[in-house]
Amino acid sequence: MTSPQQATPTDASTPDACTKVPLLDISGENAPLRDEMLAAITRVFDSGWFVLGPDVEQLEQEIAEYCHSKHAIGCASGSDALMLALMALDIGPGDQVILPSYTFFATAGAVWRLGARPVFVDILPDDFNLDPDQLEAAITPATKAVIPVHLFGQCADMDAILEITNRHGLAVVEDAAQSLGAQYRGHRAGSLGNIGCFSFYPTKNLGGLGDAGMLTTNDDALADKLRLLRGHGMRPRYYHKIVGVNSRLDSIQAAALRVKLAHLDEWNQTRAQNADRYYEMFCEHGLEQRLGLPSESSDKNHMWNQYIVRVPGERRDALREHLASVDIGSEIYYPVSLHLQECFATLGYRPGSLPITEQATRETIALPISPGLSVEQQERVVAEIERFMTVAETTVNHAA
Ligand SMILES: *Cc1c(COP(=O)(O)O)cnc(C)c1O
Repeated sequence: MTSPQQATPTDASTPDACTKVPLLDISGENAPLRDEMLAAITRVFDSGWFVLGPDVEQLEQEIAEYCHSKHAIGCASGSDALMLALMALDIGPGDQVILPSYTFFATAGAVWRLGARPVFVDILPDDFNLDPDQLEAAITPATKAVIPVHLFGQCADMDAILEITNRHGLAVVEDAAQSLGAQYRGHRAGSLGNIGCFSFYPTKNLGGLGDAGMLTTNDDALADKLRLLRGHGMRPRYYHKIVGVNSRLDSIQAAALRVKLAHLDEWNQTRAQNADRYYEMFCEHGLEQRLGLPSESSDKNHMWNQYIVRVPGERRDALREHLASVDIGSEIYYPVSLHLQECFATLGYRPGSLPITEQATRETIALPISPGLSVEQQERVVAEIERFMTVAETTVNHAA
């Protein structure tokens, strides 16, 4: 099989392409499917049906099956999926919603936009996901729902979370935007809570050609309400039962995503192989104790949307600069936790409010893990990190 890397025309022919290691290679990933995707888009073009329609219905069915969920409802983005989920649960002013602070902004933005109060809790240091003990401690009579985020491709500790939410009668909206296909004790992400939210933003494991999102649920009534809400609450045409929004999924996105969905498992397997190889390489270079390498629990099936390494001792930003100087892409997810964002200042959080979260924002860096990554590229990433760490540690020893 030709890997996406080899399929890019500029590869191998230019010396830069061999040595450069991009964080993501979206064009390279799409290139082998170019003809198939363009044919799917052409089919939509010729049909003249651009919003919802047969391709969206088919994608909804395919995602529902893939997620072991009874229903899947397409919408315009992962951010909208979160907002629609909370709308379907009637969350609004006076309500509190508990969520981690170490996540993409959309998780909290959805709560805020509905007039509810985001209540941020700390994470577990090993998988960066919601700490169930902190969740329990944050529950008040105003708490209506919890949003566990399955961050970086790995599920949160759902048994512990669901035990608490069931005991307190709270709704659970899973933010599975980074974890399509991830499993928790045999259950797929998005099928564990009341509603699951997915994103097909181009950088996700299943990325579209623009914005797109999906909701999953096993609840017939919630599925019906979500379908109403994404289309202005309209049923039948020009009769509005409830006030919804316009958040429909484009047919072209659905058609393109269906082509890619058929390859998702194979890509995710390659990501997992890349993660295993990183582990071996970091050990070979004696770095497994000097860095915090990502862990995978046997209960969970990691989808490796991101490969996250902890760099101790305030050296993370310097490492990132070093990698950039040798043409290796990386990213910081996320440099500022949500409880310390300017827009949430009125909530009254301070530096130190969520120490594990704040430490993660200082220490973590995402390394290239995409399916198109070659062994040589991975070797370069690890060798450059070793070079940096050795210099950094020598400097510290001399200073001491
Ligand atoms: C990407 C992402 C979202 C938002 O999805 P969009 O499709 O970009 O709106 C929400 N939550 C998390 C954790 C994400 O990574």
